[in-house]
Amino acid sequence: MRIAVLSGKGGTGKTFVSVNLAAVARDTAYIDCDAEEPNGHLFFKPEQVHSETVYTMLPAFDAQKCDGCRKCVDFCRFNALAFVQGKPRVFPEICHACGGCSLVCPQGAVTEEKRAIGTVSQGMSGGIPVVTAILNPGEASAVPAIKAALRATDADAVIDSPPGSGCPVAEAVSGADYCLLVAEPTAFGLHNLRMVHELVTLLNKPFGIIVNKADGVYPPLEKFCADRRAPILAHILYSRKLAEISADGELAVRHSAELRRVFLGLWETVAAEAAS
Ligand code: SF4
Ligand code: SF4
Repeated sequence: MRIAVLSGKGGTGKTFVSVNLAAVARDTAYIDCDAEEPNGHLFFKPEQVHSETVYTMLPAFDAQKCDGCRKCVDFCRFNALAFVQGKPRVFPEICHACGGCSLVCPQGAVTEEKRAIGTVSQGMSGGIPVVTAILNPGEASAVPAIKAALRATDADAVIDSPPGSGCPVAEAVSGADYCLLVAEPTAFGLHNLRMVHELVTLLNKPFGIIVNKADGVYPPLEKFCADRRAPILAHILYSRKLAEISADGELAVRHSAELRRVFLGLWETVAAEAAS
């Protein structure tokens, strides 16, 4: 069983929910797919860490075979190829490694070579496998690193998705059995919830909502959920003490019996929903 945790923007509490849920779950890994800013490891402090480089494929052009027909440049929908002095040139950071340019080249002038774009690290934290996708600075797409992190273990897992609702998020939740959408009870929080709600609906994923930093009920968000029959599974109250515990890199469920009770209940609910 894999549970993906999403939010429409950073700072909503997605990692807070992910790490604390993984901490109370049984026989479950934590996979950090927020490859541009992975920080779940700061809470788990894994040991016995080993890392593997993540590669993607980059086109290479044989100047002897290339006759300058431009078919590869015209084909590339990502604008990763430019035509310079009669020959194609690739911009590595925006190439999506689709392989299309090598397929359309009539001269067989395009081959592919490996290019490192990030790493996946794995370690253990008190019996919890901790997997982290890390994207190298300047890279445009985290998708290959996310794929590698998701493949790194077959275990049940809590997946800490990237923020937003773009391609990396879709990749992170693609194999999830259930999605948890974390939202703040504000107008901006509702706006971001709409985006991730649209994504999980499009992907036909079962989901529930967690309202985080809930000082009180925000009626428009409650109405949004009620109108769509989107279940709110928990309201997690804002607590300065818990915020300080998290800021110190500690797992809040290990310091608050009340919060541990909330997350244990959440895990049981989610596990039952994902299994049904
Ligand atoms: S592999 Fe795909 S994205 Fe990369 S340069 Fe070729 S056509 Fe463009
Ligand atoms: S399609 Fe092949 S032959 Fe044509 S410009 Fe590209 S690499 Fe050169």
